[in-house]
Amino acid sequence: MAGVVVVFDFDKTIIDLDSDNWVVDELGATDLFNQLLPTMPWNSVMDMMMKELYTQGKTIDDIQEVLKRAPIHPRVIPAIKTAHSLGCDLRIVSDANLFYIETILVHLGIRDCFTEINTNPGYVNEEGRLRIFPFHDFQSSSHGCNLCPPNMCKGMIIERIQASLAKEGKKTMIYLGDGSGDFCPSLKLKEGDYVMPRMNFPVWDLICQNRELVRAKIDEWSDGEELERVLLKLIEAISIQESHSNSFQLLSVNCKMETIPMADHEALSSSLQVTQ
Ligand SMILES: [Mg+2]
Ligand SMILES: [Zn+2]
Repeated sequence: MAGVVVVFDFDKTIIDLDSDNWVVDELGATDLFNQLLPTMPWNSVMDMMMKELYTQGKTIDDIQEVLKRAPIHPRVIPAIKTAHSLGCDLRIVSDANLFYIETILVHLGIRDCFTEINTNPGYVNEEGRLRIFPFHDFQSSSHGCNLCPPNMCKGMIIERIQASLAKEGKKTMIYLGDGSGDFCPSLKLKEGDYVMPRMNFPVWDLICQNRELVRAKIDEWSDGEELERVLLKLIEAISIQESHSNSFQLLSVNCKMETIPMADHEALSSSLQVTQ
């Protein structure tokens, strides 16, 4: 299915909880996290938390060990592997960070299923401390979207993906997410695309309250089992639609060839080349 691009949120969509909270809670730093949260953006708090954990003697191995234990619904990995094997282009757009996401995906054996991970930079510095930075540098300029946190507008990322896909021909996008940060990208989807909001989660509430603003078709899911069923059903439906429209195009070209006088064939085939 070269025509389908599936964009996944990560926290509470691929894994079944928020990776930032999971690391902080499992390493016993919840109180400090809650104290810092009202004082600065979430993304900056996470960098501070990594500094604090480092000072307390927690190592990168400790963090990785916690990440590898992050709960995931047993049907999510097969869903991703099947979508990948069907030829879909899978991407991640997440407000977690690259270090967490790569650690988990490599551990689960599904890193290579994704062509792109759009998230906050996260890497281990020379001291052996994890640094987490904003995807969008809001200190130097705002991204200008009031729906999104200062460090990342997922809608802008979707627009960038749409612009690059437009060069490759028609693509259908399926977007899966749960959080309020997934509402902005849902509004960027076009007619013919699909949004899969997680039922009874913030993005679902926002979509339900603003249905008239969403051009994509809405297919909700509640757990990993439904995620797999709904996603694979959509991919199948798009693939049937695509093969129908391909054969219809061929058929109509053949019909035209039969009825158009010979002299017009050359003009027709050159115009076909232009539109292909
Ligand atoms: Mg999420
Ligand atoms: Zn936005």
